[in-house]
Amino acid sequence: MKPLFFFTAVFVLALVALAPGVRKALADAEGGWHTAQYGDLAVTALSDSTGMMPFTIFYDITAEDFEALAAAGGSPSANEVPSWINAFLVKKGDELFLVDTGMGVGPSIVPLVSAAGYSPDQVTHVLITHFHSDHIGGLLDGDGSPSFPNATLYAPVRDEEYFIPKSGPDVNGTELARKVTGPYRSAGRYRAFDPGAQIAPGVKSSSLWGHTPGHTGFAFESSAGPLLCWGDVVHAYLIQFSRPEVTLSYDVDRPGAAATRRKVFNEAADGRWLVAGAHLPFPAIGQVTRRNGGFVWSPYQASETEPAGGAPASGADGPPAAEGSAPTAPAAD
Ligand SMILES: [Zn+2]
Repeated sequence: MKPLFFFTAVFVLALVALAPGVRKALADAEGGWHTAQYGDLAVTALSDSTGMMPFTIFYDITAEDFEALAAAGGSPSANEVPSWINAFLVKKGDELFLVDTGMGVGPSIVPLVSAAGYSPDQVTHVLITHFHSDHIGGLLDGDGSPSFPNATLYAPVRDEEYFIPKSGPDVNGTELARKVTGPYRSAGRYRAFDPGAQIAPGVKSSSLWGHTPGHTGFAFESSAGPLLCWGDVVHAYLIQFSRPEVTLSYDVDRPGAAATRRKVFNEAADGRWLVAGAHLPFPAIGQVTRRNGGFVWSPYQASETEPAGGAPASGADGPPAAEGSAPTAPAAD
């Protein structure tokens, strides 16, 4: 299997060539975190890293079409498109949910949790969308202990069965999956959940299988409407919103991944869901709308999505919304 991410030394130097929406998303990521208030939820995006994805890992699209979409979106290279790795904190009542944990290499997301006004030991639930390394890599600290010592780890049982097989050969990723879940299991704080299982009051899992067998979204109820943390429904936003059928070499079941993507796009657009995506342009919180037979991504603008009367003020139990980094510019599309 190819490496999950392709970083290029020229990436930063090439920013000047990016379209305004892409430039802004990267500039916002400089501090590494961004909090948006959504009804009674405080949703914080944490920026693990960014990189470029080459055409060679994509399926179900011609080179000509890929290059045209990359160019239209302001990608610095005709045969690569930018991508992001994000994790999300969701403060709901007294509980603090962390959805995915990033790669865990270089600067991990733990300092970002602190920078955003929380401490890692405040995290009550770690929710894993699937067992790929860019989602589970941050579960342990440098000593091999849980990075979130008071949290219970929730993982989709179908990914557990696939990545940590009880019989038969290991798959790519088995070693890491075993390693990072082990300390949580030993501490009695590991739960494998069935597709669609309720995780906590107002927090439900939703099977988004295809990318991996257990790939999962997490739906949070809020006073402003639903929030769906959808994991890897989209890897390359310059390509896959307009062409949902485009898949990648990382997809375990490519037709399944494409069908799930189209289904979720339709549901998110119809329901006007707020969406948080692991590989969308930071801060990666926004909405899906239809355009020209495809879909487009619109970063969250509180004034449009908040109910009349605005969001409740942050309480003493949560951080204030980040100032000066509200996502107001549309992403390149
Ligand atoms: Zn991923």
